[in-house]
Amino acid sequence: MRSIAASFLLAAGGVTLSPRAPTPDTLRGFSPESSRVEREWEAKFRAIPDLARLRSTMQRLSARPHHVGSPYDKANAEWLRDQFRSFGWQAEIENFDVLFPTPKERVVELIAPTTFKARLQEPTVAVDPTSSQHDEQLPSYNAYSIDGDVTGPLVFVNYGVPADYEELERHGVSVKGAVVIAKYGGSWRGIKPKVAAEHGAVGCLIYSDPRDDGYGDGDVFPKGPMRPRDGVQRGSVADMPTYPGDPLTPGIGATKDAKRYTVAEAPTITKIPVLPISYGDAEPLLSALAGDVVPESWRGSLPITYRFGPGAARVHLRVKSDWSLKTLNDVIARLPGTSESEQWIIRGNHHDAWVNGAEDPISGLVAELEEARALGELYKQGWRPKRTIIYAAWDGEEPGLLGSTEWAEAHADELRQHAVAYLNSDSNGRGYLQVQGSHSLEKFINGVEKDVVDPEAGVSSWKRNQLATIQRGTAEARRDAREREDLRIGALGSGSDYTPFLQHLGIASLDIGYGGEDQSGIYHSIYDDFYWYTHFSDTAFVYGRALAQAAGQAVMRLANADILPFAFSNLAETAQRYITELQQLRDRRAIEIAERDKEIEENLFAITSDPRAPIRAPAPEVRAPQLEFAPLLNAVDSLTRAAQRYERVYTQWVERGGVTQAGSAGASTLKSINERLLQAERALTSPEGLSKRGWYTHMLYAPGFYTGYGVKTMPGVREAIEQGEWTSVNPEISRVAAALNREATLVSQLAESLNAVR
Ligand SMILES: [Zn+2]
Repeated sequence: MRSIAASFLLAAGGVTLSPRAPTPDTLRGFSPESSRVEREWEAKFRAIPDLARLRSTMQRLSARPHHVGSPYDKANAEWLRDQFRSFGWQAEIENFDVLFPTPKERVVELIAPTTFKARLQEPTVAVDPTSSQHDEQLPSYNAYSIDGDVTGPLVFVNYGVPADYEELERHGVSVKGAVVIAKYGGSWRGIKPKVAAEHGAVGCLIYSDPRDDGYGDGDVFPKGPMRPRDGVQRGSVADMPTYPGDPLTPGIGATKDAKRYTVAEAPTITKIPVLPISYGDAEPLLSALAGDVVPESWRGSLPITYRFGPGAARVHLRVKSDWSLKTLNDVIARLPGTSESEQWIIRGNHHDAWVNGAEDPISGLVAELEEARALGELYKQGWRPKRTIIYAAWDGEEPGLLGSTEWAEAHADELRQHAVAYLNSDSNGRGYLQVQGSHSLEKFINGVEKDVVDPEAGVSSWKRNQLATIQRGTAEARRDAREREDLRIGALGSGSDYTPFLQHLGIASLDIGYGGEDQSGIYHSIYDDFYWYTHFSDTAFVYGRALAQAAGQAVMRLANADILPFAFSNLAETAQRYITELQQLRDRRAIEIAERDKEIEENLFAITSDPRAPIRAPAPEVRAPQLEFAPLLNAVDSLTRAAQRYERVYTQWVERGGVTQAGSAGASTLKSINERLLQAERALTSPEGLSKRGWYTHMLYAPGFYTGYGVKTMPGVREAIEQGEWTSVNPEISRVAAALNREATLVSQLAESLNAVR
């Protein structure tokens, strides 16, 4: 899975001044001389990834359904391991035993006022050869839905996020004892049953409205790329904002003898049964609803009048799963480093899919495999990485980042000590190089983007992103894109395998992939397959090659830089922007709450309500107090000063030629600088974690508790303000400030050490 938001659209903002950069040809972290050598190897590297191989590898890996526990999942893992070995890598399969429920019984039926039984089956499409593999396909379902057999009135809840329930409440519609039907979209899917259960619903259906990824947006498959009438989005509904990975073993690897929760104890399994359905199956259910017509923004593209319900509509929902443990097959390949072998560069993409998964995840994995082949070729020609390179093909990403999380938890101590950075991809298509990640790597990845050519536009992927930001951005984003040295990258929420590395272990991470120019309505359905991909996405695999070039160059630079290419001024500036956002958020909330109170006093809601479709007044809220932002502002000032000093010293190091002789005092200082540099992201974590979800330790980035994939930056502070938990805001501010102060101290010490390198 992967969040679809285009990162450059999220990046907006002000101008920064940074010290004069070294000549544009000098790569970040390299001296002019070592840069020249690096560039020669990169030119050789870029020539190797091959279009025909990208295509044939995709065809091989997506030939049959390959979800967790299936025979073809294991066959793929073994084939991948053997490929890595044939490229000259050390490669093994690492197994974990995880809870992965698969469906045994699924029933959705309307029992009043008329009857209708949902089909719950995606049909074969004649032109699409793998769509007929029904014996091996996982039926459409939501993994980690609790078993249940419930009957109740049906209520439509829009996207099923907290604001939608406020709207229902004001229309006098309760979901207590009801089965709710929510549209996909608007939040990560697992939020929908969580919020529904919080409001007393007994069951949850999630359907794909044609307005969002069906005929409302283009021709449906097989004529076009969009979701057909009976297409269904599978997906996990475990409460991943609490913790991802195996629900039975939070915080530890799911090895044979691991201490496990029972299924009944596992806190991330849903509280009510859930099933996803197609719009073909949803239409008769939604047509049966009575009650008020929903607001404009709730309506979809079905030829019906969308109403809240319930009226006489009653639905029966039954879900039962096989709850046995299944075995994960993570493929882990190593290319050992030379002088800095204790420092690890990690690159990953998952290999498991919901069904055939040509786009998700194989389109990203084929690029990763071509990188590995190309690095193996260079190795044979004499190239050596200074640092150890680890390439992973994760299993079990789709059910909840299982393979990456269990591996990261099982190797947590080593990873905290050795990991420099984690580079993720998960699916690839046509368009823009979308980058999100740690802002300490923003400058570095901008450098990589400048050295990859967009295969259709013929300019660098960086240039194309810059112009797209100018075209689509706000005035501030336009000015930024033209004048700031680096394009902004978005922060990471969740939705793919970087989460355990970044947000649990504090390893600087990046997620990259091309996209933004494909239309697609086959996500997590049986139609995400080789036929669809080679007709509607990167059909010539030129963006697959570009991704291999981008990610491979990033890995090579991280592996061979003289000084690890972290830069902290962009991080400090971004943190400053987050604080400004939080101050504005507090002020906005204060105005909203005061205004609403005034309207309640004025009796506005009662008087303006239409007696035939009455609307209730909202409940009053606690007034927003003033908050103590000073510790945060002081901390970011310290970080800014430390970062500026580091940049000055770094630039001087490059101007001195950068080189230190092997065995010299300078060389050993440089080694110790790198050992401390790789801890810089760790300094931003707090061992006790976020207050309601301790698994997440990063103080700057987390998936939203009520958004799922969407990021919340400085999450402890932001979510306390958003949810009106005013008494916890100031303590949360202190915790984020402490993290920024730790970072400032470390960066300051690094600047002193680097200044001494001769
Ligand atoms: Zn995926």
